[in-house]
Amino acid sequence: MIDIAKIRFKNKILTEDLEFTNENIEILGKKLKDSINKSFKRSFFIREIDTGSCNACEVEINALSNPYYNLERFGISFVPSPKFADALMITGPLTKAMEYPLHNAYELTPNPKYVIAVGDCTMDGGVFKDSYAIKDGIMSDVKVDLWIKGCPPEPIDLINGLLKLLEKIS
Ligand code: SF4
Repeated sequence: MIDIAKIRFKNKILTEDLEFTNENIEILGKKLKDSINKSFKRSFFIREIDTGSCNACEVEINALSNPYYNLERFGISFVPSPKFADALMITGPLTKAMEYPLHNAYELTPNPKYVIAVGDCTMDGGVFKDSYAIKDGIMSDVKVDLWIKGCPPEPIDLINGLLKLLEKIS
């Protein structure tokens, strides 16, 4: 215990200050809420689909539901089925095994539906490009309305991307 305390004292605090304060998130959140209220009657439902990612994009997407970002308070919820979704949020380079489930989820999503591609993999396979097991991205399989770049994109990039899409729709 004393050894751990000594190491902590020596290393000080290793985490970085957040670039975006809670105030910034509140401002973005209000804009999100206004756009959602105009076009979606107070709620925007997203079904997240992993088509073979490394899971880092999922970690960033999960952060949107944590107590810090908490997007649900602005009207954005993640749902367990495409049948209830307004949009699909897709990660990964699209493995051949996930081709059918992706098409199936797309078909099951009611119209009008929106597709949000998250991460560099979705565009052309990213770091998995040319692997025998993947299709080098989702772009040729579904019509993408918004692509959020990054490997992985940060939560604030996801929020800005969602805002861009929602403002375009409304
Ligand atoms: S874009 Fe990068 S972080 Fe996201 S799933 Fe692909 S390899 Fe992982």
